[in-house]
Amino acid sequence: MRKIQMVDLGTQYQKIKEEIDGAISQVIDSTSFIKGPKVEEFSNHLAIYMNVKHVIPCGNGTDALQIALMALNLQPSDEVICPSFTFISSAEVIGLLGYRPVLVDVDYDSFNITAQNIRNAITERTKAIIPVHLFGQAAPMEEIMEIAREHDLYVVEDTAQAIGAEYIFRDGTRKKLGTIGTIGCTSFFPSKNLGCYGDGGALFTDDDNLAQIMKMTANHGMRVRYHHERLGINSRLDSIQAAVLDAKLPYLDRYNRSRYEAAQVYNRALESIEGVVTPKQKDYSTHVYHQYTLKIKDGKRDALRDFLMKNDIPAMIYYPIPLHKQEAFSHIALQNGSLEVSELLAEQVLSLPMHTELDASQQDYIISKVKEFFNE
Ligand SMILES: *Cc1c(COP(=O)(O)O)cnc(C)c1O
Repeated sequence: MRKIQMVDLGTQYQKIKEEIDGAISQVIDSTSFIKGPKVEEFSNHLAIYMNVKHVIPCGNGTDALQIALMALNLQPSDEVICPSFTFISSAEVIGLLGYRPVLVDVDYDSFNITAQNIRNAITERTKAIIPVHLFGQAAPMEEIMEIAREHDLYVVEDTAQAIGAEYIFRDGTRKKLGTIGTIGCTSFFPSKNLGCYGDGGALFTDDDNLAQIMKMTANHGMRVRYHHERLGINSRLDSIQAAVLDAKLPYLDRYNRSRYEAAQVYNRALESIEGVVTPKQKDYSTHVYHQYTLKIKDGKRDALRDFLMKNDIPAMIYYPIPLHKQEAFSHIALQNGSLEVSELLAEQVLSLPMHTELDASQQDYIISKVKEFFNE
């Protein structure tokens, strides 16, 4: 059996090595390392895949969120609502830009922000919502867009963990996550569902004006070289990363299906164990299982993790501390309500190995060890 890893990028690479190596060599031969034609080619292909008008590539997913907020021209102390149970990026950029992150609680079943909690947090200073599509499935976007229309708010989707997943609207129509709100942001960090071999990110929008502003913002605020219309940042997707991504994009749906199928294998084997809660999929979302995250009750999470580690099975806690408990936010973030679910999740979550190269023998072994721990 191959060594079990949280993410197995090596085995994935070996299967498409010729395409990747060829694509990288072409960039090196061209010496067009920055703003080369490959970046535009990949952006165009991704726009077709996402069915969105504009894709603006940038340096990473956190920059994408920052560029999105910079384009919205908010005022100091404007409030932006985001979940308390997620990676720091969304709340971090809100705070960095001098706006106020308003942290709200999430849904126990889906790990995602809820419409009701957003409604409870809205004040006259609220200007935007950043829903995060955590672990690979959608936040309740249809309701979120209704709230946004009622209160005239921007919606910036963080789809770093859910690229390729779709929202299923009440009327049955579907849209790719990241293309529903005002702006969508994603990351191509190597372990994401569409990952490059370094850092990368992108923004999505159908709004021509915002697209221009975000493109400019990612490039020192200039449209015409050395004419700086506004303050921007330097955030680029480089050509080698674009070449890797362009080679991998045609595999994205297949990769997401492998993750989904591996999740079903885990679900079937683990859902009946007392004290283990397997992930729930909402009927309004497809699921691309960026993470396969269990909830382990009765205070047994850390012991299970240690037991798996002793048996050479990595398992990770995403995320051990909710954002409202982070020191960095002790002075700037506003907390809405008691955020009990986020705190409970931080105590219970455990993510099992999940990637495109998990095979049956590895999953059998992981499952047998989880069962052994629970004496099943
Ligand atoms: C990875 C991630 C980011 C940040 O992406 P980087 O490319 O690492 O900056 C933001 N939000 C979420 C939910 C993520 O998982």
